[in-house]
Amino acid sequence: MTAPRIEIDLGKVEHNTRVLVDRLALVGIRVTGITKAALGSPGVGAAMLRGGAVGLGDSRVPNLARLAGLDGPTSRTLIRSPQLSQVGQVVAHADISLNTEAAVITALAGAATRDRPHGVVLMVELGDLREGIALDDVSAAVRVVLDQPALRLAGLGTNLACQNGVVPDDRNMAVLSGLVENIEALYGVTLGVVSGGNSANLGWALSTTDVGRIDELRIGEAILLGTEPLHRTPIEGLHTDAFVLSAEVIELNEKPAQPWGDRGQAAFGEAPVRTGTGTIRQAILALGRQDVDLDGLVPPDGIEILGMSSDHLVLDVGDLPLAVGDEVSFGLAYGALVRAMTSPFVSKFEVAGAMLDPCRP
Ligand SMILES: *Cc1c(COP(=O)(O)O)cnc(C)c1O
Repeated sequence: MTAPRIEIDLGKVEHNTRVLVDRLALVGIRVTGITKAALGSPGVGAAMLRGGAVGLGDSRVPNLARLAGLDGPTSRTLIRSPQLSQVGQVVAHADISLNTEAAVITALAGAATRDRPHGVVLMVELGDLREGIALDDVSAAVRVVLDQPALRLAGLGTNLACQNGVVPDDRNMAVLSGLVENIEALYGVTLGVVSGGNSANLGWALSTTDVGRIDELRIGEAILLGTEPLHRTPIEGLHTDAFVLSAEVIELNEKPAQPWGDRGQAAFGEAPVRTGTGTIRQAILALGRQDVDLDGLVPPDGIEILGMSSDHLVLDVGDLPLAVGDEVSFGLAYGALVRAMTSPFVSKFEVAGAMLDPCRP
C-alpha cells in the first residue's frame, strides 16, 4: 500500500459519536459533529451522523462544500466567523454560521434570501479571548440579526479552552444561560441553539448537576481521537485509535549515539538532544514535517523519536525486527492529526471498521 497514509476506521468514529451522544442525551445536550480535523471528510461526517450527531460543522467553507454530497438533509454549520469576502459561499454551503461582527452579519443578510434564511449563532466572549461578543454588546448584535428578514437568529454560543485554556465550568456556563434568558425576555424570542462549546466542555457537561440552558456542544476531537482536550486524556469507553498513520523505513543502520563535528542549529531550530553512548539502531522513515506534526505523533512501544525535518523522521528502533521497506504505524494526537489530514502527501483510506461493537450488545 502507498505510504505515508492514514487509515480511518469509520466504525470507531461512529461508535465514539454514539457513546458521547447517548451520554449527553441524558442531560439534554445534542451533538454537532465537527469534521475540521478530518478535512471535512464525507465518510467521517456520515459516520458521525450514523452515531447520532444532529448536524455537522466545519471551520472551512471548502470542507462544508465536500459535505454537501451526504444523503438526507444535514444541517451544516460554519464554526469560524465568516470572511467578509466569502459570504456568498457561506450562505451557499452552510445553513448556520457562528458570528461576532455586525458588518459580516449584514453582508450575510445581503447574500441570503428570505425563502432560505441563513441561521446565525452569536458567539459570546466568556474569558478565553478568542472569538466572541462582549456580554454588554450581545443585545445590540441580536437586534442586528432580528432586523434582517433573510437571517434567522438560531441562538447563542461560546468557545472556551482554545486560545488561553480557560476551562468551562458552572460559573461561565451559568453566565451564558443567564444571557439566553435575558435575550429571550427582552426580544420575545426562543433560542433554539445554546451551544456551550467544544470537546473541552465534556468534563463539565457530564459532571455538573445543572447544565442550565446549554443544549448543544460542537464535538470534534473527542469523537475523532477519543480524548478530551484539557488534559489530553482518553475518555472511557471511546476508541483512541480511529486514525492510524503509517510510513515506510528508507534507511536502517547502526549509527553512533552521538553526532560529531562543530554544531549549530538543525533544520528546525535547536538540534534535538541525543543521549547515550556507543551505537544505536537508527531508522529513517519517509515522513517529515510536510506530512505530520511532531507534536502529537505517538510511536509504538520500543521506538523512540530522535527528530524530524521536512522529509525525514529519525528513530531509535532498539532491537525491533525492522528492515528497509517495512512500515511503522503511529497514533495521532490533535496537532499531528490536523497536519497529516491536510497534507497532500499523505494518502487517506477509510475503512468501514469492526462490525462488532464491544460496548453495545
Ligand atoms: C475546532 C472547534 C470546535 C471543535 O473543537 P474540538 O476540540 O475538536 O471538539 C468547536 N467550536 C469551534 C468554534 C471550533 O473552532
